[in-house]
Amino acid sequence: MKTVRVRVAPSPTGDPHVGTAYIGLFDYVFARSRNGKFILRIEDTDRTRSTPESEQAIMESLRWVGLQWDEGPDVGGDYGPYRQSERSEIYRAHTQMLLEADKAYRCFCTPERLTEMRDRQRKEKLPPKYDGRCRELKPEEIENNLSEGKPFVVRLRIPPHGYVSFTDKIRGLVQIATEQIDDQVLLKSDGFPTYHLANVVDDHLMEITHVIRAEEWISSTPKHVLLYEAFGWEMPQFIHMPLLRNTDKSKISKRKNPVSLLWYKDQGYMPEALLNFLGNMGWSFSDGREIFSLDEMIADFSWDRVGTTGPVFDITKLDWMNGMYVRQLSPEKLTSRLLETALAGRDVGRERLLRIAPLIQERITKFSAEEFDAMSDFFFIGADQLEYDPGLLAPKKTEPADVAPALQKMRERFDALDAWETQPMEDAIRALADEIGWKAGSLFMCVRIAVTGRKATPPLLESMVILGKDESLKRMDNAIEKAQALL
Ligand code: GLU
Repeated sequence: MKTVRVRVAPSPTGDPHVGTAYIGLFDYVFARSRNGKFILRIEDTDRTRSTPESEQAIMESLRWVGLQWDEGPDVGGDYGPYRQSERSEIYRAHTQMLLEADKAYRCFCTPERLTEMRDRQRKEKLPPKYDGRCRELKPEEIENNLSEGKPFVVRLRIPPHGYVSFTDKIRGLVQIATEQIDDQVLLKSDGFPTYHLANVVDDHLMEITHVIRAEEWISSTPKHVLLYEAFGWEMPQFIHMPLLRNTDKSKISKRKNPVSLLWYKDQGYMPEALLNFLGNMGWSFSDGREIFSLDEMIADFSWDRVGTTGPVFDITKLDWMNGMYVRQLSPEKLTSRLLETALAGRDVGRERLLRIAPLIQERITKFSAEEFDAMSDFFFIGADQLEYDPGLLAPKKTEPADVAPALQKMRERFDALDAWETQPMEDAIRALADEIGWKAGSLFMCVRIAVTGRKATPPLLESMVILGKDESLKRMDNAIEKAQALL
């Protein structure tokens, strides 16, 4: 049996797209499940829109997400070059082959003539299609045009009658009348190939066995099939994955959903969670579970469970999933991730973070500096920098004037504790609340504000243990002072 070889073939124009990770994931999983090879090919034939920065960002993002390719422009391989801009000669030679076999022809029509033709077709309500003027040029006419240096494109000679068909692994037989297909341009007048030519030539030369790509390309496939036939090449299997959709079911777009992989990285999503989320897009695990690792997906993978309906890319679902992944981390891993992501570049001691991280683990959904700070900034500032509205110190249904004395007593009880541990602290709070006729929850809240300045925090007593007795008492002192304002 042939070795499975699959490729992801992004065009380096703009930010790396989440769709590239989606298709890359299915490539990767399928390749791994069949001991095959996963290839990264850069389709940079659009010279005006392709940039090296974009190529770099695509590679970094795919690596970040955890999809390492076996062959590609940076890692090499036996089928290179893997960047289409470096394969121009190959495309020219293959165009020549098609010209010689009369499967393609040179078209000398000027852009003006083509615009006129299209305008006419529009007026006559005809489908836009090349009218074939240069299809049957005589050899002398071609020679003349060439010697006059007239620019030309090369077009594929699509059979005027008949059908072209292929089997999509997910959709089954797809058939279309050739008369609906335009004589596709293969080589542009600047000598660069179009997507169609480069894609087919490369898939063939790189011995791609399965072409996995998004559904939006399905309309190109009949042209590709005709190209394979024109070359006399064996065809790969075609697999068109359902298109990712916005919640309103339209095709995923940046107006409605962030589509850049860089955004997901910056927001602090875990790559494992993002992959797991994408794995649920269009595919389902055999036992219906939604949470699975990449290895589990590989072990369970089968095309039978890919559907045709466009999966909805629902970011709230991703948030939920990411939270699940965050909670599964050990304190060490959680700490390392925080240091690499949300806290990168900050001077946060690992030992201290190791104690704080588990306290916020239940409460964060992503590794963003924003979420981290909202939960734990109070750990990293001194008592005097803690700012909050003194009014927050007064619990509901208590006299504001009672707050300062209550805090004062609480401070004394804390000070008197032999051990600065959660249980004695909790006992002290409950006992005092009882004595002064407050609900325990009210006194907890009052202390929480005093110590953290916030209403929502990680577990209070554990936080106070980490802050230490001196620092906690200093914060109590400041709160007592602030509460005087409430008298
Ligand atoms: N360059 C195309 C893209 O940007 C590749 C499509 C395909 O896989 O054939 O997605």
